[in-house]
Amino acid sequence: MSISAKTNLLDFDRAALESFFAAHGEKPFRARQVMQWVHQRGVADFARMTDLSKSLRAWLESECRVAAPRILEQQRSTDGTRKWLLAVDGSENAIECVLIPEKSRHTLCVSSQVGCMLNCSFCSTAKQGFNRNLTTAEIIGQVYLVHHQLLAEGESGVTNVVMMGMGEPLLNFDAVIAAVNLMTDDFGYALSKRRVTISTAGVVPAMERLAGVTDVALAVSLHAPDDDLRDELVPLNRKYPVSELMRACHSYVDGYNRKITFEYVMLDGVNDGLEHARRLVALIGGIPCKLNLIPFNPYPHARYRPSAPATIDRFREYVAGKGIITVTRRPRGDDIDAACGQLVGAFRDRSRRSARYRASLNQFEGVPVAR
Ligand code: SAH
Repeated sequence: MSISAKTNLLDFDRAALESFFAAHGEKPFRARQVMQWVHQRGVADFARMTDLSKSLRAWLESECRVAAPRILEQQRSTDGTRKWLLAVDGSENAIECVLIPEKSRHTLCVSSQVGCMLNCSFCSTAKQGFNRNLTTAEIIGQVYLVHHQLLAEGESGVTNVVMMGMGEPLLNFDAVIAAVNLMTDDFGYALSKRRVTISTAGVVPAMERLAGVTDVALAVSLHAPDDDLRDELVPLNRKYPVSELMRACHSYVDGYNRKITFEYVMLDGVNDGLEHARRLVALIGGIPCKLNLIPFNPYPHARYRPSAPATIDRFREYVAGKGIITVTRRPRGDDIDAACGQLVGAFRDRSRRSARYRASLNQFEGVPVAR
């Protein structure tokens, strides 16, 4: 059997792996043993899985494989942030994931799609267009690669995962849920559900589905307190306007012990005034939540500028003064383009958006970029 025709075990969460094993007459606990070898010990070679019978190992070797994306390049920022460029599909498409090391934790920012369809006006991933959804193996493969590389370096492994890399996780629902299941599974990465965050630009029907299938943390990229502005910044808002988004947020938390993290990118002169802050408080004040202010990370030809630090402070103090826990996210890794909204990977754009974008840049040649 050719390598690629073999079943990639990274594509299965526990329930799926157990039924795959059951279909071959194997007991569920064998599936759990294999999960521990793969996800906890980083062993991809079935011959080394010594507590499995010889016949089971032989079957695994002939039918199965453990294949994560291939590392093309690694970069390290002066602030310690690390970025991996990973090939999916041979060498045609590549994605990025980012490790943010802090004193007591290693947060991995994971991609869910090759590119992104949403086209948010301030995000550089959006400018590259969209190619396809990642598979479960490609999503969990990012955790698998980085976690075991860290352990091999004598570091502690990945302690937190944020689905905040390239793509919109809730538009790749099933693969993301299976990957998240592996992150929190005791036989997988055993992360507590509070240490895994799914971030969404507001795919309302998927948020409603999410509430029933997983209990991980939810972040909502809000960025604007009303439809007029949000339509412009997050075009998905034209489909799922602010009122519907807020209703979905309420139903995600109501009756549960949950909080939503709202993300708000601070764009100079666009959404960073006290009037915006006041409307934001009125909008989210009734929802158990906290607010993350993200200083805008610029990139070449961006239409926006970052808000001044004093403006961000004033905004934060106003919102915090109304009783909403508000933190300003410290930009990390911007010297290696690893900060929020700077991940681009390298891939063939099927939406043809990147070509249109490049053409539209001509108008900016030599002109200072402003709104
Ligand atoms: N599609 C999902 C996951 C991406 S998360 C979502 O929208 O939530 C990436 C986060 O970084 C989002 O909150 C996004 O709005 C923000 N972001 C995008 N571009 C940025 C930029 N240039 N500067 C700062 N934050 C940015």
